[in-house]
Amino acid sequence: MWRRCIFCMIARGEAPAHVVYEDDGVLAFLDIHPSAPGHTLIIPKAHVARVEDLSEEDASALFKALHRLVGRIQDAVDAPSSTIGVNNGPESGQEVPHVHIHVIPRFRGDRGGIIQGIVRSGRRPIQEEMQRIAEKIKELSAADTKLAHYAPGHIK
Ligand code: 5GP
Ligand code: ZN
Repeated sequence: MWRRCIFCMIARGEAPAHVVYEDDGVLAFLDIHPSAPGHTLIIPKAHVARVEDLSEEDASALFKALHRLVGRIQDAVDAPSSTIGVNNGPESGQEVPHVHIHVIPRFRGDRGGIIQGIVRSGRRPIQEEMQRIAEKIKELSAADTKLAHYAPGHIK
């Protein structure tokens, strides 16, 4: 835990928050500047800045809590849908360097966008480049992936 991290302080009960869920490893509370009513943050209690640095246990616990909570968050504010996202690293806009999943309830006509709209490359994908990137990701994941038998360009 970090002494001066605001989310660690909330997890320790040293800063106030509208807590909506807690288990051994996870806490969820309302965002102080909600993008929509019911905007909730789900965090690991352990101080970890980025998703890739979470322990497998905390990663599983986070997604499990998300799975449990998302429908209830939507129901609490009569939202038919939600956008779920993580700002992962400063270049993505992450301001609090403690992993948190945003659950933002969405409403018909709320004029919000889609996650893919955050960044637009503005150019058509080049097949060779996609192939090269896919190969690189597979190579880096080789120890724990089962994708070896897919043909190039296979769409899962
Ligand atoms: P991000 O780091 O993903 O850009 O966003 C951090 C989020 O945490 C923001 O939406 C912000 O409103 C929220 N936040 C920052 N400080 C506090 C706080 O002290 N309490 C609560 N409940 N939310 C906070
Ligand atoms: Zn922290």
